[in-house]
Amino acid sequence: MRVTNLNPADTIGASAWLVETGGHTMLLDAGTHPGTEGREGLPSYSQVADADVEAIALSHCHHDHCGSLPVALRHFPRARVLMTEPSHFIVERVLHNSVNVMKRQRVEKDIRDYPLYSHEEIDELSYLFQGFKYGHVEPWGAFAREGESPTLSFHHAGHVLGSAGIRVAHEKESLFYTGDVCFHDQTLLPKADFDGLKADVLILETTRGNTETPEGFTRDKEAKRFLDAIRAGLDRNAGVLVPVFALGRTQEVLGMIALAMQRGDLRKQPVYIGGLGRVFTEIYDLVSGRAPNRRPDLNLRDALDLRVLERKELNKIKLDGSLFVITAGMMSEHTLAHELAVRMAPVERHSIHFVGYAAPDTPAGKLRAAARGEAFHFSESGGELTRHCEMNCFDLSAHADRDELVDFAVRLNPRTILLGHGEPEARDWMEQTLRDRLPKLIIHQPAPGEAVEV
Ligand SMILES: [Zn+2]
Ligand SMILES: [Zn+2]
Repeated sequence: MRVTNLNPADTIGASAWLVETGGHTMLLDAGTHPGTEGREGLPSYSQVADADVEAIALSHCHHDHCGSLPVALRHFPRARVLMTEPSHFIVERVLHNSVNVMKRQRVEKDIRDYPLYSHEEIDELSYLFQGFKYGHVEPWGAFAREGESPTLSFHHAGHVLGSAGIRVAHEKESLFYTGDVCFHDQTLLPKADFDGLKADVLILETTRGNTETPEGFTRDKEAKRFLDAIRAGLDRNAGVLVPVFALGRTQEVLGMIALAMQRGDLRKQPVYIGGLGRVFTEIYDLVSGRAPNRRPDLNLRDALDLRVLERKELNKIKLDGSLFVITAGMMSEHTLAHELAVRMAPVERHSIHFVGYAAPDTPAGKLRAAARGEAFHFSESGGELTRHCEMNCFDLSAHADRDELVDFAVRLNPRTILLGHGEPEARDWMEQTLRDRLPKLIIHQPAPGEAVEV
């Protein structure tokens, strides 16, 4: 087997791994780099222009894993696209939204490369997309080739709806790719189910490799602290803003709020969400019975009074006593969360609560770093802000802790591990820790564009 890292960056970047096994070729994920604009954020597809890719398998529908799918299909036009059944419900919505965002950025930031693909292109390609049940073993090699086709199967990864680790097997060789994985239960999604898997080669995500979990930390305690903070804000008639990603975080936060309202821990009141958040919430409700789910009985739209906040209402909406669970998580310019933060940050009474990662150079990252009462540069359109509002960060991550990742690798006990999807320090910590635990293990940190014989 030969594996090539097509991520253009040495960081989390854009996931894309080319896997060659016994004359067959597959691409695992086709992402875009969230912090890089234009073509720079694309995986290095042209480097493997000669590859005859027969299948593209998607681990889940976040942009860093599927955002360049139409571009990948231009390079590899014979490939079909395989994913889990829930991801099949989601993927086209994510890609169409990407086109809208890129079109807006073309105007606002003068990025001439954008959009990298069009709505029409997505519609024309969609017949190639196929959804599979978890655990189903699917041959993916072209029929004309000699010998048995390699197979793949998807395994519940507990990260967002539809997320999967992907196992690729061919003759005596097998590879397992974790995608983004969560080894603890969230409110709606149960933890990953990778039990009983075997693989010679493991591609392991390392997002939280440089995050140490504090002694005594539990997600339940953290969720309670989060809900207490929301209640305290609403009790003093503050505006409460929770900036979130539309897919995954939005539904997990809504699930926490819905259950707290049912218990009587939060008073019932409308929750404002974004348009895209509403789309994915509907999909969560729709497929909750068909995918692993801890609360199949909880229908978010029935349980909550959800109101979609329209852009035109943004400047008129009453902030006092209102609860906003709004995109985007990084508070990128011109998003609803960005515009609300501009109004809320200078006012002492209001609260902003972060529940996930925000890159330091994004508006959300800068706001998180700003001390109370200190002026800071928020963004080009938002200008200087002084934060007077309350601000909290909660660790409600949908990624596995680093110790859980190491424990999983030790249980799987592969011959070779490739470390990816993390910052260099995160991968280094993982490599060091794994070397101590599994002295015979071969470990690679493939550089951008590097191919490794495994
Ligand atoms: Zn993800
Ligand atoms: Zn990711």
